[in-house]
Amino acid sequence: MNIMLLGAPGSGKGTQAEKLVGRLGYTQVSTGDLMRKQIADQTALGAECGKYMNEGKLVPDQIVNAIVKDYLETNHEKLIFDGFPRTLEQALELEKMLAEVNSKMDKVIYIDVAQDVILKRISGRIICPVCKVSYHVETRKPLVEGICDNDGATLIRRPDDAPEKVAVRLAAYEADTKPLIDFYSNKPGFIHIEEASELDGETVYQMIEKELVK
Ligand code: AMP
Repeated sequence: MNIMLLGAPGSGKGTQAEKLVGRLGYTQVSTGDLMRKQIADQTALGAECGKYMNEGKLVPDQIVNAIVKDYLETNHEKLIFDGFPRTLEQALELEKMLAEVNSKMDKVIYIDVAQDVILKRISGRIICPVCKVSYHVETRKPLVEGICDNDGATLIRRPDDAPEKVAVRLAAYEADTKPLIDFYSNKPGFIHIEEASELDGETVYQMIEKELVK
C-alpha cells in the first residue's frame, strides 16, 4: 500500500511520516529531503533546486517529477509521499509514473490544520540535519537542548522557516497545492483528518492507523 500525506507546511506531515516509518515499516519519500540532500552534496541539481527553495518557492514541476521518477525506479511499494505532489501537474504525473511501475496510490491523508497553528509550529521548529526528525522549542523539546535524541546531532532551523519565507510557502500552498484536496477528495482512499490543530501528533497518528486498516 502507498500513502500520500497532504497538508500545509507545518501541518505535521513529516511527524506522521516518521511514525508510519517507525511503526509500520513504510519508506518516506520527501521531495524536500531529497532536494536538501542534493544541496548538501553540492550537485548541479541541488544548486538549481536551492534557487527556488531558498526563496520558499516551489521547484518547477519538471525537476521534481524527474527526481521522483528516478526514485520510483527502485522503490515503489509501501511508500509515504510527504510533500509530493504539490501541484495538479505533479499529481497527474505521479499517477502515470506509478502506473508505469504497476503501482498506485492507495490512501491520501489530508491533515487539516488552521493557519494560526501552522505559523506557531513553524516559528518554533528545529530539525535534525542527520535523521530529519523535527522538534519544537516549546511543545516538542529534545531531551538535551539543541541536540537530537536519536543521533546526538546539533539541531538546526531550516533556512526556509524564516518568517518571510514562510509567507511565500503558505501562499504557494494556497495557490498550487490546495486544489489537490478537491482532486483527491473525489477518489477512493481519501481520508480527511479534520481540525488536526486541536489534536496532538499521537492522536492524529492513531486516527490515521485506524483508517489504514479499513
Ligand atoms: P518541504 O520539506 O516539503 O517543506 O519542502 C521544502 C521546499 O522544497 C519547498 O518550499 C519547495 O521549495 C521545495 N519542494 C519540496 N517538494 C516540492 C514539490 N513537490 N514541488 C515543488 N517544490 C517542492
